[in-house]
Amino acid sequence: PPRTDCPLDRKELGHYTWGFLHSMASYYPEKPSRSQQEAMSQFFNIFSQFYPCEPCALDFQDDIKEHPPKTESRNALAKWLCERHNTVNEKLGKPVFDCSKVHERWRDGWLDGSCDQ
Ligand code: FAD
Repeated sequence: PPRTDCPLDRKELGHYTWGFLHSMASYYPEKPSRSQQEAMSQFFNIFSQFYPCEPCALDFQDDIKEHPPKTESRNALAKWLCERHNTVNEKLGKPVFDCSKVHERWRDGWLDGSCDQ
């Protein structure tokens, strides 16, 4: 069985991190206050400085400089983050994700009920 007590490699770190980031975006307020919007922008700027994969962090810094966080609503943030993840997917030759399904994937579960207990 895979060990769960060893340092994360780049793929494991990425997989867990995207899970956290997309979940955070899908639970962000629908109508955030001005200070929540500013805090979320700062979060991504700080995150991009300390993400513990240097080439990933440097590319992500460039990408969010060109496409700054959209923090005006939950839907805007989730779509923005989905697009950022798709930029990484394209770079790695992975399939592009359909961003209209981001809340199904990360908050509500698939419409066919396959995530329901
Ligand atoms: P992941 O890409 O980790 O995705 C996890 C799950 O998210 C998928 O199974 C899918 O259900 C869902 N998903 C996929 N795309 C989207 C989307 N667009 N929106 C919402 N949900 C989606 N790796 C490198 O080798 N080089 C890099 O430069 C690099 N940069 C990274 C930068 C950041 C900020 C992060 C968080 C990770 C980075 N990674 C990088 C890691 C890489 O993106 C993957 O996480 C890793 O390769 C594992 O891929 P995976 O197949 O498990 O799926």
